[in-house]
Amino acid sequence: MAEKIAVYPGSFDPITYGHLDIIKRAIKVFDRVIVAVAHNYDKQSLFTPEEKIEMITEAVKDYPTVSVDAFHGLLMEYMKKAKATVALRGLRATSDFDYEYHMAAMNRSLDDSIDTLFMMTGKDYFFISSRTIKEVASLGGLVTGLVPDHVALKLQEKSIHKQKG
Ligand code: ADP
Repeated sequence: MAEKIAVYPGSFDPITYGHLDIIKRAIKVFDRVIVAVAHNYDKQSLFTPEEKIEMITEAVKDYPTVSVDAFHGLLMEYMKKAKATVALRGLRATSDFDYEYHMAAMNRSLDDSIDTLFMMTGKDYFFISSRTIKEVASLGGLVTGLVPDHVALKLQEKSIHKQKG
C-alpha cells in the first residue's frame, strides 16, 4: 500500500510546543509527516527560512518519520511533488476557524484529491502562538515551557541583537 504522507505547512516563526503537539499527534496517523516552512512574502518574519528549518530539525530529531522542508508558491503544487495527500493544520480556537475554512476550501478548489485535516492541540498549548511568543520574548519575558529550549535561546539572541542594533 502507498505510504500515507501528510504535509504540515506554516510560517513556524518560530516553532512552538503547540506546533510540536500537532506533529506528535500526526505521527500516530501518518507514515510520514513533512513539516514545510512556507516562504511567505506577506508576513514579516523574525527568523530566516534557514533558521526556522534548523530549529524545527532540532525539535523533531527524535521522530524518524518526520522530515523538514521549505516551499515557495502554492501548497498544492508542493504537495503533489511530495506525493502527499493530506495538508495538516492546527486549530487553537474558533478564531482560527474562519481563515482555515476559507483556505481549505480554496485549496480543495485547486486540487480536489488533497484534503485538509484539522487537529486540536492539547489543553496546555491552545493559547500559544508564534506571534505572542515573539512579543513576550522581545520584552524580556520567559518563554521556557512554551517553546523548546534551543528556540528560547534563539529568541533571546534576537532580542539582544535588536537592543544592541
Ligand atoms: P501560518 O502562518 O500558516 O498560520 P503558523 O506557523 O502560525 O503558520 O501555524 C501553522 C499551523 O499550526 C496553523 O494551522 C496554526 O493554526 C497551527 N498552530 C499554531 N500554533 C498552534 C497551537 N498552539 N495549537 C494548535 N495549532 C497551532
